[in-house]
Amino acid sequence: MRTPLIAGNWKMNGSAERIRAFGDAFAGDRLPAALDVAVMPPFPYLQAAQHAFAGTPLALGAQALNPEPAGAHTGEVNAAMLAEFGVAYVLVGHSERRQHYGETDADACRQVEAALAFGLTPVLCVGETLAQREAGATREVVLGQVAAVLDPLEAALRKRLVVAYEPVWAIGTGLTATPEEAQATMGDIRAWLETRDAELAQSLRLLYGGSMKADNTAALLAQPDIDGGLVGGASLQVDEFYAICQSAG
Ligand code: PEP
Repeated sequence: MRTPLIAGNWKMNGSAERIRAFGDAFAGDRLPAALDVAVMPPFPYLQAAQHAFAGTPLALGAQALNPEPAGAHTGEVNAAMLAEFGVAYVLVGHSERRQHYGETDADACRQVEAALAFGLTPVLCVGETLAQREAGATREVVLGQVAAVLDPLEAALRKRLVVAYEPVWAIGTGLTATPEEAQATMGDIRAWLETRDAELAQSLRLLYGGSMKADNTAALLAQPDIDGGLVGGASLQVDEFYAICQSAG
């Protein structure tokens, strides 16, 4: 059985006050037991979040990393630094990083390796643009992004990843892929994994991302190959995010 995972990507949003509010709201033990939850605030809040989330079910995530070990990389943060602040998950290849900061599949490979070397779980984000979907290239694009990162990795390391399918046209737009549309592509990803390693295909968690909200979570997660969600906008409101977690259990 794959434990569902709900991860909240705050992007460049948040505040010390919001960190405290999340720590307070998730204190206590009211979430479904078989559920993993992570919150990914911007870098400056990681230390405050590490304290505020202690004793809650919230794991800490980061939104990006630089794969270099150290040195002259102004403005960047590496995997060792994230590990030092208790970060458990890190996004790799988010479409906003690919589109606005020129990150490629090759960068994603190096980031995954660096994250794994420091015990972090990389959440590899893949997804097609609207133009690619309309051109009928969804499967080719998505499987190409998955293969580019998983194929070069040692078999034992592949098991330590999470993959998030995020159709780019559904991110931050209010347009959600229907559960059937999401399942079609995520089923393709699972079938591709099967061609590499049957055990991996059974154990690797696939998240859906793209305008996920409390009112569509249950229907998305009812699909056989959707094991959780990567939530952007709706992860910023503590009540909404809590409700998404309740629906995922
Ligand atoms: C995301 O940024 O990963 C995301 C899914 O955003 P949203 O939920 O706002 O579409």
